Amino acid sequence: MAPSTETKDFNVATSVLPTHFILVPLVAQGHTIPMVDLARLLAGRGARVSVVTTPWNAARLQGIADSARRAKLPLDIVELPFAPADDGLPPGCGDDIDTLVPMFQALHRLAGPFEAYLRALGRRPSCIIYDRANAWTAGVARSVGVPLLFFHGPSCFYSLCELTVATHGLVEEREMCVMPGLPVRVEMTRATCSSAFLNTPAWEAFQKNAMEAIRMADGAVANTFLDLEGQFVSCYEAALGMPVWALGPLCLSTRDEAALACRGDKDKPTAVDQSAVTEWLDAMCTGSVVYASFGSLVRVLHEQLYEVGHGLEDSGRPFLWVVKESEVAASPEVLEWLPALEARTAGRGLVVRGWAPQLAILSHRAVGAFVTHCGWNSLLESVAHGVPVVTWPHLADQFLNERLAVDVLGVGVPVGAAVPDGEAVMVARGDIARAVSELMGGGDVAEERRRKAKEYGERARTAMAIGGSSYQNLTRLIQRFTPSDGNGKEQ
Ligand code: UDP
Repeated sequence: MAPSTETKDFNVATSVLPTHFILVPLVAQGHTIPMVDLARLLAGRGARVSVVTTPWNAARLQGIADSARRAKLPLDIVELPFAPADDGLPPGCGDDIDTLVPMFQALHRLAGPFEAYLRALGRRPSCIIYDRANAWTAGVARSVGVPLLFFHGPSCFYSLCELTVATHGLVEEREMCVMPGLPVRVEMTRATCSSAFLNTPAWEAFQKNAMEAIRMADGAVANTFLDLEGQFVSCYEAALGMPVWALGPLCLSTRDEAALACRGDKDKPTAVDQSAVTEWLDAMCTGSVVYASFGSLVRVLHEQLYEVGHGLEDSGRPFLWVVKESEVAASPEVLEWLPALEARTAGRGLVVRGWAPQLAILSHRAVGAFVTHCGWNSLLESVAHGVPVVTWPHLADQFLNERLAVDVLGVGVPVGAAVPDGEAVMVARGDIARAVSELMGGGDVAEERRRKAKEYGERARTAMAIGGSSYQNLTRLIQRFTPSDGNGKEQ
């Protein structure tokens, strides 16, 4: 199939817009969601934006494309031909931790179609922003002579640790590892540290590729804001030797209900209706509900699901818990046990099966705590809405994000996950109930944690509002890549 270069019928003729950004997200929910938020933001500021992706991901973005069209935004979705089956991968690869690295490798086949698409455009785009995991994009951008920025999904705190560990190695002290090159002291156990940097040969090869590709870039885009991570953004810029544009929190890019409703996997038949969840939350007191969800990739084993369910029940608080379809389907015991839990907690517990409208939940006044796996999107979405967190990292950057939330920002209580996901030790129900009660209970420390969370929420909104730091950074970024003659140059 030939790449689609068709532009849709917007209120402006997109071909006359001087600035054209091409965004190349990774085909995985946690990567695509913030880049699509960025696409809407750029289009909302008058730049033409094309989001280039695989047919599978493009289908999932149809709701976003429709809502952008209704809002008359110059945003289009471009499909490049890609069949995961050619590499023995399932259609939804990227939504599953086991297929993530093979998918990174298979996506290199998009380089040829991507170059053909760019050359067929007629006018050179202003800038390509690619997900750091799509390292194949960098060589193409260089060969067609288009400026290049990489989007790094995690916190700048993590990105800085990753870069300095890759350059200088870890400092090891007894049983702890100390992160080098940070403006604050951060320690981790060896177990969590090795999970943070996933030391498998396939991962190391991927990292090497990604690092080589970013050397070709003109800068980085980060989903964060200066009032949250300013010190890490500066250190990351210095370590990279190129500008880092802090443009977030990208989740605050729109308040449009229709746009929020089709974020992520909303078109899946199992996705839960936003209005049903909101109605349930409407009946709850302000700040009373514990929201528990573990992102898009983590799969909670059924023994662990029991502990989560009982922990939430034992906390005595109203709770809204998201259980993945695949987690329920994997175990007949869970299929029986879950309705019993729902019956016991009727009126104060809501179990959502499938994909939940996370932003609508976190922005609801009733939510007072988030039990999170510390994926950066989830953590930032919580901070952006002033909701403190119980931290339960499972893998990758999540352990360092936990340190950021707990030690640096002071908005989190750890559940006590001492080893990465997949290793035998489980978090017990008592740990969950204890962490929830520590976060939501009384006392100066808890009050201060909640106050800090609220304050970061306010600062996040300020950063994204007209004149705020992220708003201004976006203005500068668009100006930087708008051709001075206002027309773009012929290739
Ligand atoms: N998400 C959602 N509904 C769900 C699960 C996840 O909307 O039921 C969204 C969530 O708001 C976030 C993203 O999916 O934007 C998950 O990203 P994160 O970095 O937190 O986790 P990961 O994708 O790495 O698991």
